[in-house]
Amino acid sequence: MAQKILIIEDEIKIARFLELELGHEGYAVDQAHDGREGLNKALNNQYDLIVLDIMLPFVNGIEVLRKIRQNSEIPIILLTAKDEVMDKVIGLDMGADDYITKPFAIEELLARIRTALKRKLQKPELTKALEIGSLKLDPDKHSVTYENDLLELTKREFDLLRHLIENKNIVSTRDRLLEEVWGYDYVGDTNIVDVYIRYLRSKIDDKYNMKLIHTIRGVGYIIKDEN
Ligand code: CA
Repeated sequence: MAQKILIIEDEIKIARFLELELGHEGYAVDQAHDGREGLNKALNNQYDLIVLDIMLPFVNGIEVLRKIRQNSEIPIILLTAKDEVMDKVIGLDMGADDYITKPFAIEELLARIRTALKRKLQKPELTKALEIGSLKLDPDKHSVTYENDLLELTKREFDLLRHLIENKNIVSTRDRLLEEVWGYDYVGDTNIVDVYIRYLRSKIDDKYNMKLIHTIRGVGYIIKDEN
């Protein structure tokens, strides 16, 4: 199936040109001609990549990027004008994958699109929500829900929970958790793992009166749904 690309560009001539060229390369192309329409399409359809102009009517490209990134890790390539250096920097900081400065050679944009799409394929399955019992962790949205409750977790708690759910029904040793969640270069007390397990238990097991996080004495921890 053809990969779908959304072009958000207010200069109709450029948008048409891109649609033609990308279509020629075998992509399925959709267009939006202002920020509001672009955001609307981006949030309500499944695309594989977005080409996003920065200077747009109604909602500018940076704001569109910010809103998309709250929901999705989709590859985004910014189109910038020569004098938009700051916007380019802000855009990359906010999670754009790449940028290209106008005027550009179409071959260069095509190469960047291929690279960004390839990178997306190499990423682990980010879009798949991780579940155990009624607990759901969404890596894309960076959210954790229990039934319809949104849980407030710190980044570290989230990473720890994510590791446990990715390895559900498998015991993780304290050392493994330290390496995977805190990183090899963590220096400090290994009790930090127990402390964070306690935080997670108070926010999940205790709060919802279930037992998901189990201690394997002398070894480590495991998450499993016993129901
Ligand atoms: Ca523009």
